Amino acid sequence: MTVDMETIVSLCKRRGFIFQSSEIYGGLGSTWDYGPLGVELKNNVKRAWWQDMVYARDDMEGLDAAILMHPKVWEASGHVAGFTDPLVDCKVCKKRFRADHVDTPGCPECGGELTEARQFNLMFKTFLGPVEDDAALAYLRPETAQGIFVNFANVLESRRRKIPFGIAQIGKSFRNEITPGNFTYRTREFEQMEMEFFVEPSTADEWFDYWVNERHQWYLRHGIRAENLRLRQHGGDELAHYAKACYDVEYHFPIGWSELEGIAHRGDYDLKAHEQASGRKLNYFDDKARQRYVPYVVEPAAGADRATLAFLVDAYREEEIRERKRVVLRLHPALAPVKVAILPLLRNRPDVVETAKNLYADLRRFFPADYNDTGAIGKLYARQDEVGTPFCITIDVQTLEDQQVTIRDRDTTEQERIGLDQVRSYIQDKMVVA
Ligand code: ATP
Repeated sequence: MTVDMETIVSLCKRRGFIFQSSEIYGGLGSTWDYGPLGVELKNNVKRAWWQDMVYARDDMEGLDAAILMHPKVWEASGHVAGFTDPLVDCKVCKKRFRADHVDTPGCPECGGELTEARQFNLMFKTFLGPVEDDAALAYLRPETAQGIFVNFANVLESRRRKIPFGIAQIGKSFRNEITPGNFTYRTREFEQMEMEFFVEPSTADEWFDYWVNERHQWYLRHGIRAENLRLRQHGGDELAHYAKACYDVEYHFPIGWSELEGIAHRGDYDLKAHEQASGRKLNYFDDKARQRYVPYVVEPAAGADRATLAFLVDAYREEEIRERKRVVLRLHPALAPVKVAILPLLRNRPDVVETAKNLYADLRRFFPADYNDTGAIGKLYARQDEVGTPFCITIDVQTLEDQQVTIRDRDTTEQERIGLDQVRSYIQDKMVVA
């Protein structure tokens, strides 16, 4: 079963994952705010990416470039001339569509006649300073990648790097999409997790295969079900202006199979373009081979919002367990917004409450935890299951005697007794990604 988008949107609103932007003013179309649980989930997705792409490797550096860049960057990169989508208007209902998304002879909404396609540039324009003229024109970056290319020499030199190595970055990007929609799948403001891997040209094909596989595996290791994930190679006519080859990691979203991440073989397109436009050398000297070259680049480019949506959709289950119906988010403990809920069974017993509150305060120093004594235990479990909390802990009179608590597993609903002093390491062990 794949869940429909309305169910996910409604859960997200009800439980504080994602809200419509500016809702009290009627909402701003296709713009979303991450609520208390959503910001945790998305931060965890980004942290998991950074963990694997940067910390776990010895051939990677991190970067956080500015959103505003010199306008010449976007001329050199090809975005001013080529970052366009074909736009068609319906002559009858006046709706606009991306021509490459229309598969009917006329307007998909009313059947009316469509205009000829014209190219529409997706970059948002803005002006730096008080005068709104061409000299002050700037763009909100439509991808984070260019911030990496223009810093290639800075990172290489300051970190005394040897090729192959990569530069990873997470940050906001903006695209004036013609038809945003499908919840957070396509928005005009979104966050990307991009990495540029610089290699010796003759090794580029091998590195490309390596990264396609690595990125596919990353989603599986973080809990996406294999049957909902696939790789798709781009046909020649689909390739972006810079790409020699490209694979998409696709997820089976409620809207059908759609791109989650693209892995592109960019050749030396970007570094050469910036060399030419800036007049600065962006090459590498291999002192062993006594050879100078412009590195080739392999780029895995993922969306933090799309990934977050995929993890949510994939985790969502409506199931019956021990004769009780429930909604559960089976998120990997590393991604779950809250890791544990402390639920004292006897809220009238000050000694039980005190033990529970002490544990709660202790755990919160290490990861997000929740405390709740406001309802029947079955209801409290159900509320935690629905937001994906992997563990619940109950504390009772027995705890005061043997210093043990009952820990319940979200997925199996099985319970076991463990020592109070083991709770933290028990949960931290489960948060490790295999
Ligand atoms: P699409 O074909 O869906 O427009 P794209 O191929 O243009 O996407 P890339 O330029 O490869 O996308 O960007 C890399 C990643 O950034 C995408 O795989 C996606 O996860 C994310 N992304 C791109 N555009 C958007 C958007 N409008 N909203 C949310 N995420 C986006």
